Amino acid sequence: MTQFNTLDDVNPDGKRVLVRVDLNVPISEDENGSVSVTDTTRMERIAPTINEISDKGGKVILLAHFGRPKGKIIPQMSLAPILSTLSEVIGKPIAFSTDCIGPMAEAAVGAMQNGDILLMENTRFHAGEEVNNKQFGADLAVNGDIFVSDAFSASHRAHASTVGLAAFLPAYAGRAMQAELEALEAGLGNPSHPVVALVGGAKVSSKLDLLKNLVLKVDALVIGGGMANTFLAAQGFDVGKSLCEHDLADTAMEILEISKKAGCAIVLPDDCVVAQEFAANISNEIVKVEQIPPNAMILDAGPDTVHKIGEWISRASTLIWNGPLGAFEITPFDRATVDAAKIAAAQTRAGKLISVAGGGDTVAALNHAGIADDFTYISTAGGAFLEWMEGKELPGVAVLQK
Ligand code: AMP
Repeated sequence: MTQFNTLDDVNPDGKRVLVRVDLNVPISEDENGSVSVTDTTRMERIAPTINEISDKGGKVILLAHFGRPKGKIIPQMSLAPILSTLSEVIGKPIAFSTDCIGPMAEAAVGAMQNGDILLMENTRFHAGEEVNNKQFGADLAVNGDIFVSDAFSASHRAHASTVGLAAFLPAYAGRAMQAELEALEAGLGNPSHPVVALVGGAKVSSKLDLLKNLVLKVDALVIGGGMANTFLAAQGFDVGKSLCEHDLADTAMEILEISKKAGCAIVLPDDCVVAQEFAANISNEIVKVEQIPPNAMILDAGPDTVHKIGEWISRASTLIWNGPLGAFEITPFDRATVDAAKIAAAQTRAGKLISVAGGGDTVAALNHAGIADDFTYISTAGGAFLEWMEGKELPGVAVLQK
């Protein structure tokens, strides 16, 4: 297993600790312009790291981005409005610096006592952040003695505050980063076999690298959602009006060929739920994949398919999941996703399965199924989780290796 430097490898007492965190939280603004944070999950995840460093006597200097200001100061993308919520979640006062580099930042850091916490303004207000400019990295680094990265969700981007700092300061994984890396290691790095991957979602084209990597690593690949339609069509089934990338038929067949050679079973739908259109309360029926009416579209996997997927999940020791099995936003097309999620949750609760899931829509779908807490680990990192599943090295993780 790859070894990472963690907070166990350093004593932060008296040190200025630059901590890269993910504070890109959802907000809403009322008519008076007052901002409130609508979901504090990301703040809760970084709380252990911040409190541990502070309790051990380190000076915690938080670096984060917010939105996409593209190197310009955009007042609507300031981190200042979320400061009070962060302070409530952490349970300690937090100071604010209106710039993350320069005289303002140096003065704010200079005023810190051991155990204090300081939030720096949006790193992306500087153009040097996203291009990983060396001078900008050096300007950030002058305010720290060590660098702690706790933002897995930003680690697929080689930015100054995720990667560049490690050229100047010793780098360590924070507790949230550590938990994520350990879960990912259990999922694909050194997993307990059999490993089943479930990939759903809308399109094959957005997940080609993912499918090609997974068939080489897992024992069975369940393909669901809209992307299954492309595979069904490639095999000669008429998928009617379904979402389907007909131009990717050859690619789909190529993936089936690679999986055969690699000994990876491919699990595709046998039956599906179809309707005339994707709308609430629309009449729908369950049909076999050989019998899809020409004027209908596939919107979910059918019960026979869910039963088959359940059998694969029950045989698995490890499950990694990205993407819903159907158009889960509208009932009843959430059925297959919810039922499969419940089977995985029950197996996990029984201690028989390690279940790791991630990606934006997947988190929403598993929350909707009401079982998110039962999974071994759910990653809220969208892009970074996908790149990890694709087998790519994440630059922000590579710099933390021992
Ligand atoms: P992704 O972001 O690729 O994981 O795709 C998630 C989206 O795929 C969700 O919005 C689902 O509604 C959609 N989706 C899943 N299955 C289908 C389907 N059979 N037809 C149309 N959209 C689907």
